[in-house]
Amino acid sequence: MKNLKEVDEKLERAIINSEIYKFDGEIATYIPELANVDSENFAMAYISTSGEVLLKGNSKTKFSIQSISKVIDLIMALEDVGEDKVFSKVGKEPTEYKFNSIRPISDKAANPLINAGAITTCSLINGADVEEKFKRVLEKVALLSNSDDVLFLEEVYNSEMKTTDINRSIAYYLKSIGIIEDSADEILDLYVRNCSIGLDVKELAWIAAVLANGGKSLDGKEQLVDREVVKITLALMSACGMYEESGKYLIEVGFPSKSGVSGGIIGIIPGVCGICTYSPRLDNSGNSIRGKKILSEISKTLDLNIFI
Ligand code: GLN
Repeated sequence: MKNLKEVDEKLERAIINSEIYKFDGEIATYIPELANVDSENFAMAYISTSGEVLLKGNSKTKFSIQSISKVIDLIMALEDVGEDKVFSKVGKEPTEYKFNSIRPISDKAANPLINAGAITTCSLINGADVEEKFKRVLEKVALLSNSDDVLFLEEVYNSEMKTTDINRSIAYYLKSIGIIEDSADEILDLYVRNCSIGLDVKELAWIAAVLANGGKSLDGKEQLVDREVVKITLALMSACGMYEESGKYLIEVGFPSKSGVSGGIIGIIPGVCGICTYSPRLDNSGNSIRGKKILSEISKTLDLNIFI
């Protein structure tokens, strides 16, 4: 692996080269509150598995993690009820449909990293009620992100709860076919709360770095996520983390990643580092355009592709 100074130079170069794309794409507005961000805002974090940190741009900006929360939902469901139960309720295969489509569901959602799949994994998180489940999620996020400042962005939550008819339909459908066993409204509530967690790029890259470290804390002292759970999570992020673009992205970038419609992308390079980019303008799939350009460039210049 390259030394930190060289990594820093390549990050700088990729950021400069990506500036021409900073007006490409649109910010997500279907959750009205997401429209209230600076669409040209940019930040990035790189954290090695030994805990070296590089921060770029407006790295203090907190944003709602949106679909990046699907990684946490999956980890917690796997830890709480085990692999067999999880995959009796949700598939393991990519899908050609949009992240919020109701279409791929017949007997269960295609995978845990689209909305229908994450609503399913949310229903498998232990806790007596929504409050307790969400408290456990926040504690897990604080642990994995090494942060004592995990936010709940209430405006984003309220805004999505008012407009999320598609996710409500998905939750009710999953309930009607017996995939969700609890109240559909409560599971929807937990799913949207998890999407509304506010973190910055350093906190998200820290989560990515822990996963890159096989689930161990970056000081090597504690196993924060079960190794088997890390294995499953990274495999599914590779196959399904960038929605209907996952195959194309995997060829181009070559490491497990997960995006969210607020403009964040986390990338995990096992044994090397965790990365997070933030740039809110998106392509048609709901993935950050500038983030993808940067990850694609540094995959080559820093030799991060896990396949070659
Ligand atoms: N909260 C968003 C939704 O359910 C998350 C989607 C995303 O980030 N792709 O629509």
